[in-house]
Amino acid sequence: MSRSVLVSGGCGFLGSHLIDRLLRRNDLERLVVVDNLWTGTRDNIAHVTDPRFSLQIADADSFSSGERFDEIIHLASPASPIWYMREPIRTIKANIGGALNLLMLLKPGGRFCFASTSEIYGDPQVSPQPESYRGSVDCTGPRAAYDESKRCTEALLFEQQRVSGLDVRVVRIFNTYGPRTRMDDGRAISNFVIQALTTGVLTVYGDGSQSRSWGYVDDIVEGLERFFWRDSISHRGPLNIGNNHEVSVLHIAEFVSSLVPGSSIEHQPPVPQDPTNRCPDLTLARHLLPGWEAKTGYQEGIARTFEWFRQRIAATRM
Ligand code: NAD
Ligand code: UDP
Repeated sequence: MSRSVLVSGGCGFLGSHLIDRLLRRNDLERLVVVDNLWTGTRDNIAHVTDPRFSLQIADADSFSSGERFDEIIHLASPASPIWYMREPIRTIKANIGGALNLLMLLKPGGRFCFASTSEIYGDPQVSPQPESYRGSVDCTGPRAAYDESKRCTEALLFEQQRVSGLDVRVVRIFNTYGPRTRMDDGRAISNFVIQALTTGVLTVYGDGSQSRSWGYVDDIVEGLERFFWRDSISHRGPLNIGNNHEVSVLHIAEFVSSLVPGSSIEHQPPVPQDPTNRCPDLTLARHLLPGWEAKTGYQEGIARTFEWFRQRIAATRM
């Protein structure tokens, strides 16, 4: 059966990688990307020439179309703290408003996939975090627009599943890095790599003892692919997708710095309510997606990311 698919946020970092995989699907009849180019860029999809693909520059929360889709993948939202903190209301609208609006474009019996986040665990009090952990989140804190709009969108989708039997696939993605991150995105690994290649000074917020589980984009997008497009799957999520090797921010900065002799680390004030730790419990993912594993270590993933940014920076200087 051929399928029509809509991806919101497809010009972004994860979305553009997911599109490359979607276009390899033989059952794909049509792929529409809806993106307002807030944090995404046309560059990320400039290589796509497939006639099944089309781009609509529009807000996910107000996009309308006479067409209905078999599958909708809702990724529209900034993921970088500096970007979502700068425009918190717009972030809430992208997530919740986007889901409410896009649900109306789904065919009866269609599938709705959503990129939720490990941020819904807040500053976790248990480690690693299984999907059953309810999190430690401050609904009035500086990250609330992002965390709480992801939580509310999960609630919306699981209520739809209960009420109307909607086929819902929700993934809780842990920190992901790699090529096609914006130069001014602001997240840790891209910042450290760009800083090492330009100013030579890597900015670590606080003492750097806070930790994350850093997932290389190819591994993470493969996990999404396996969960989102398989018809026969008993569990409807939420599902943790990430790398479960937890490493401190300072260690990552030191590793990146070691790639560029002469670069150094500068400590800056800690970020308010910066989560102290984050690590996925992958028991469910391993059970549902046999053979899938986030296998790329940070050394290899950062080396690939480094090379990608090195080429981009060299190209902008020419
Ligand atoms: P990104 O900022 O690179 O991409 C987001 C895309 O959504 C951009 O192309 C942006 O222009 C678009 N967008 C934002 N608001 C929109 C709106 N209202 N209408 C249409 N388009 C809109 O971020 P990313 O890292 O690719 O993240 C993609 C999704 O995955 C997000 O929902 C994010 O919350 C989630 N996620 C990402 C990570 C990660 O580490 N990258 C971790 C957890 C969850
Ligand atoms: N971080 C840092 N320097 C930077 C960017 C980020 O020390 O230039 C820290 C940040 O304070 C956090 C961790 O790295 O503790 C991960 O930050 P990121 O923005 O990548 O993701 P998130 O905070 O959403 O996990």
